[in-house]
Amino acid sequence: MALFITDDCNSCNACEIECPNNAIYNPGDPWILGSEERPALNDEHTYIAYDKCTECFGFYDEPQCVPVCPTDAIIMDPDRVETKEQLAAKKENLDKVGR
Ligand code: SF4
Repeated sequence: MALFITDDCNSCNACEIECPNNAIYNPGDPWILGSEERPALNDEHTYIAYDKCTECFGFYDEPQCVPVCPTDAIIMDPDRVETKEQLAAKKENLDKVGR
């Protein structure tokens, strides 16, 4: 499942550099998939573009953003449960279109 940043986030952006999929964006910034720009998913705090989050599948055994968050604001998104196969397909698509 994709990860999600809650309102406990203070937008320190410590997580952004950790993401191998470039899935983490500043509040209000559009997110990018391949060459396409898409509207920001949050204007108030740092956010994760769920279509780009693979739980770090294919890169690391554990999500890299979670342990660096000083406010424990990054959680699994219960509304976006995905199987390993779905995460692998998501990674494959990012490999193809670009991160
Ligand atoms: Fe990026 Fe991994 Fe965090 Fe998902 S779990 S947002 S892929 S660092």
